[in-house]
Amino acid sequence: FDITMNQLQLDEELGRGNYGTVKKVLHKPTNVAMAMKEIRLELDEAKLNAIIMELDILHRATAPEIIEFYGAFFIESCVYYCMEYMDAGSLDKLHGAGVPEDVLGRIASSMVKGLKFLKDELQIIHRDVKPTNVLVNRKGQVKLCDFGVSGQLEKSLAKTNIGCQSYMAPERIKGESQNNLGTYTVSSDVWSLGLTMIELALGQYPYPPETYSNVFAQLTAIVHGDPPNLPEDQYSADARDLVSRCLEKRPESRATYNELLEHPFLVADAQREVDMVGWVERAIAHREALAGSSSQASLPSALDEL
Ligand code: ATP
Ligand code: MG
Repeated sequence: FDITMNQLQLDEELGRGNYGTVKKVLHKPTNVAMAMKEIRLELDEAKLNAIIMELDILHRATAPEIIEFYGAFFIESCVYYCMEYMDAGSLDKLHGAGVPEDVLGRIASSMVKGLKFLKDELQIIHRDVKPTNVLVNRKGQVKLCDFGVSGQLEKSLAKTNIGCQSYMAPERIKGESQNNLGTYTVSSDVWSLGLTMIELALGQYPYPPETYSNVFAQLTAIVHGDPPNLPEDQYSADARDLVSRCLEKRPESRATYNELLEHPFLVADAQREVDMVGWVERAIAHREALAGSSSQASLPSALDEL
């Protein structure tokens, strides 16, 4: 069935990205909590219709590692996209000072299974693998969102995508500077997966902070520098080897999804119990404590203002 705006009760804002806002909503007819993304696009009705049609293939994207899609519609020049609500949010706000190895293994295997499903079943390359696009719930499930299903939508968003932290593979950066989008392959997502894993382990983006404010320096480091890896003292040789197989600078040398699933680090993950529920609970408590302390810290200065 189709979802319409008047069936939705709008609740709090969950976050904001470069292209729009995500709100928690309640779908009143079914009493299902959803996340609704609003994307403002200056497009004519035909193009907006094309986007809604293309998004429709998401109804076929059902896998445990993929966010469920409920429906999309447009009003004036905004596309609204309704998806499964994930009550622990995205990994960028959950990693704290770094996740333990067993949790990292479970996140990595979920991501690999999700990416492999998209490729094998839907012939989709994700194109935007990064911590904000990996969502978690209190059941301990890890799911991917925001993958590139709609060519029309990608085209309309493309120009504005200048982030301060790039998860783009070297060949993509080079391709873009040559205006050659053909260099993008499925293994570009494998690079982004490796970089995401290091960020989760370190608790911060892996390339040096000096490069955050200097896009050129950052892209140069990615294309010409040595790839980063997990810290040696905290992660096993197997974990480090898997990450280095993702961060091969030549795309042909990178591991495939099948190779990753057969890698000792992910084989070990499949054979052990990981307390994801406990980890999510502690990660949320940590996030909330940080949010509380930062608002307290600003209180004295707020009082000074008075
Ligand atoms: P970018 O604009 O580069 O894609 P982003 O992924 O952070 O960055 P959005 O996709 O607009 O931007 O999402 C904004 C935030 O909303 C996310 O960081 C995430 O924390 C939250 N969010 C998105 N989808 C959901 C969801 N289904 N359930 C819960 N929270 C969500
Ligand atoms: Mg996103």
